[in-house]
Amino acid sequence: MDNCIFCKIIKGEIPSAKIYEDDEVLAILDISQATRGHTLVISKEHHPNFLATPKEIMHKVMDVAQRIGQAQMAVLGAKGINILTNVGEEAGQTIMHYHVHVVPRYTRDTGFQITLKENNSDKNNLPALADQIKSKL
Ligand code: AMP
Ligand code: ZN
Repeated sequence: MDNCIFCKIIKGEIPSAKIYEDDEVLAILDISQATRGHTLVISKEHHPNFLATPKEIMHKVMDVAQRIGQAQMAVLGAKGINILTNVGEEAGQTIMHYHVHVVPRYTRDTGFQITLKENNSDKNNLPALADQIKSKL
């Protein structure tokens, strides 16, 4: 994709701090560094997001995300890790090329926060909601 930042990084047209590379996957440090070591694991093929990525490639990206997380725990002294992939602008996705954030955590409240709040009236009828999702599996 001509105007995709990650495709340009993969082609070497934009510099990046590389951590890992193979034929299908590239891992680089996120330029924003939400926490120290914040890494992006990116599929080399352009796919718009997690849901639109062929399963084999999605699995390969997740394999590398696991390895990066293990390395962050081992060498950076991280106490925890958040694995995050945004799908769609409403979910906060800004670069429409599949990638997974691996965010090392040192304390609970710095750099990165996700809060899951109760905010849905369907919670009073979960079986119906479950049936609705199940119908498309
Ligand atoms: P998302 O919001 O999930 O689409 O994440 C996109 C991420 O890409 C953000 O965390 C940005 O900081 C990061 N990013 C944008 N441009 C670059 C770049 N040139 N090198 C590394 N990371 C980048
Ligand atoms: Zn791309």
